[in-house]
Amino acid sequence: VKIMTIFAHPADTITNCGGTLARHADRGDEIVALILTHGGRIHANKYVEEWRKDDPDQAVTAAGLDDIIANKKAELARAADIIGISKVITLDHDDTACTVDEDMVDQIAAHVADFAPDMVIMDYPKNPVVPDPHTTASVMALNGVNRAATFMRNLDGREEFWVKQIFFAGLPVTAVELLSLQGIRNDTYVDITPVVGRKVEAMDQFVSQAYHGLFARKLIESWNGECGRAAGVNYAEAFCRYYNETHAHLPVTEHALNVDPVTRHVEYSRINLRAEYPC
Ligand SMILES: [Zn+2]
Repeated sequence: VKIMTIFAHPADTITNCGGTLARHADRGDEIVALILTHGGRIHANKYVEEWRKDDPDQAVTAAGLDDIIANKKAELARAADIIGISKVITLDHDDTACTVDEDMVDQIAAHVADFAPDMVIMDYPKNPVVPDPHTTASVMALNGVNRAATFMRNLDGREEFWVKQIFFAGLPVTAVELLSLQGIRNDTYVDITPVVGRKVEAMDQFVSQAYHGLFARKLIESWNGECGRAAGVNYAEAFCRYYNETHAHLPVTEHALNVDPVTRHVEYSRINLRAEYPC
């Protein structure tokens, strides 16, 4: 199976679906991460905090945009290695991008057609009013996927191709059933418990934006722990499917068949993250 992730910023792939990707990598799936912007201006902790010191390190305060971007790319490359992402492609657009850009849609479409993924993962486009770069990234990603599906050998010299499923990640809604939220909820969970240590280690690489150490453990304990509660496992990542699914029969998952309702809630506090992965 081939999976492509399309996210706005360097760390988004790891925070949203790093555990899921690690499990797919372990199964032998091929993963390409497409990052739309360079991330040079967001979460600039390392640089902002240095300037606040009485005697700042001049090597840090003198860093220009190229240095900052190079450092972010090195952090992402190390995180991608830990997760098992086969290839990282960065388009290096400005990270405050908040409007749909036709050229960027073309670039996305070309990369989608080149890799021909079975599945694409992107942010849930959750706020169409405030110009949120994650929503803009997903609007462009959806359009890029659709544009790639119009490529023809006659006109573009490319084979016909379409993505089979798109998963939106990171919708902060974790009701365990359909009725409580009028249907808007994450409907697919991946159990990342076996690889949670790799997600911690991958997040530990993002030192320049202070995603390492306690923040990594807090985010995974709280968000992936809450997703785990909803999923009936220790740690999980949550997704919404974009396309409906068609089955030969009504589906029931292996997890649902095997879950024990008595111990279901005990499962999600089994691993003491901070004790097992100290920082
Ligand atoms: Zn982001």
